[in-house]
Amino acid sequence: MLDKNYDVVVIGGGQAGLVCGYYLAKTKLKYVILDKNQTQGGSWLNTWDSLKLFSPANHSSLSGMFMPKSLEEYPSKKEVIDYLKIYEERFKLNVLREINVTNIEFFDEEYFINYQNYNQNNNLEQIIKSKFIINATGTFDQAFIPSYNNISQFAGKILHSSHYTNAMEFMGSKVLIVGGGNSAAQILAEVSMVAETKWATLTPPNFLPDNVDGRDLFYFATAAYQKGTKQEDKGEDFCGVSSLGDIVMVASVKEARRRNVIHRNGNIIDFYKDGVVWENGINNDGIKIKEAEIKEEFDAVIFCTGFGSNLKHLENLSSLLDNKNRVILKERDFITQPIFESKTYENMYFIGYGNWTGYASATLIGVGRFAKMAIEEINNKSKEI
Ligand code: FAD
Repeated sequence: MLDKNYDVVVIGGGQAGLVCGYYLAKTKLKYVILDKNQTQGGSWLNTWDSLKLFSPANHSSLSGMFMPKSLEEYPSKKEVIDYLKIYEERFKLNVLREINVTNIEFFDEEYFINYQNYNQNNNLEQIIKSKFIINATGTFDQAFIPSYNNISQFAGKILHSSHYTNAMEFMGSKVLIVGGGNSAAQILAEVSMVAETKWATLTPPNFLPDNVDGRDLFYFATAAYQKGTKQEDKGEDFCGVSSLGDIVMVASVKEARRRNVIHRNGNIIDFYKDGVVWENGINNDGIKIKEAEIKEEFDAVIFCTGFGSNLKHLENLSSLLDNKNRVILKERDFITQPIFESKTYENMYFIGYGNWTGYASATLIGVGRFAKMAIEEINNKSKEI
């Protein structure tokens, strides 16, 4: 049951929302976590069937409870979902599901949270109030596809990785995978088992050495954070890691490398009815040639081109975002106080999402440190109100 007033409302009950709940439950603050999904698991519920984490279980744990050892070296998505479910239950977190936050307003230093309750058979909007808001709505609902002039002319299938479930629907077709990160490499590995594939990336992908995995990516992010540098700065020599987006050689990608399908064919610049246009001067095998644009037919294109931040519920808050659609954050010393609070809206925080809310904040192991600091700050502030 929802009350009318809270100290803190957390929007989103994926891993970021839950770890906020873990720290909130240690305070006397009255809080609730609202999530529109029917069941636990956040966006892990919607990722593709065969997805495995790129770090072992004990390096993929939220604050306060290790993820149980997985059956194989890297946990499956089901194991992650089960872990989030147990985590929520073990700490008796106050999560209400099937509550979709549609809109937030701010008057007299209080937030008015409009929501729809999918448990009730009506579309009525209802309202609760809170002094603090924590946004933890993730990125999954904000799939990003780059814009191409003639993409609407393409007669084949276009899919974002967020809607990819398994390779079966591509059996026997010719498929282009677009994107230079881990999702692209893993989907390419899988689809190439049943279909003819090509791989388009903006720049050559960076493959990690075989013995390096997500653990090293996290240590890299931590080292960059402690040095006060941006994690995406290139040129660091840290176990061969140059960026958090480097490709981890999970078993499926290694196996595809043995089949010689893990190689980049160039970059695409446009579409036409039957396929794509490769960037001027690069042919289908990635070899530089002189001729102008080269076209190639495809049945389907899978974009593994990442996500933006899902901030749809904040659209009515004027001047929350700058002219590049980024949240205007309060200036702080982000080394000693890496907490991500709106500058324009007092007491509104952002947890998870990605680089702009902290190094590795969009990972299981990385999100806890930011949640902890945010809740400590909220707890201290609330004593002053
Ligand atoms: P989400 O899991 O997206 O949770 C957000 C929640 O908010 C959802 O439940 C959603 O329903 C809810 N919500 C959204 N809007 C509203 C609203 N308006 N009202 C109410 N509820 C709302 N991380 C790792 O640590 N290791 C990995 O190996 C790894 N692999 C990944 C592989 C893929 C393909 C992807 C996409 C990500 C991977 N990540 C990995 C990154 C990260 O851990 C996940 O993206 C994770 O789901 C982020 O958690 P979150 O809680 O921030 O967001």
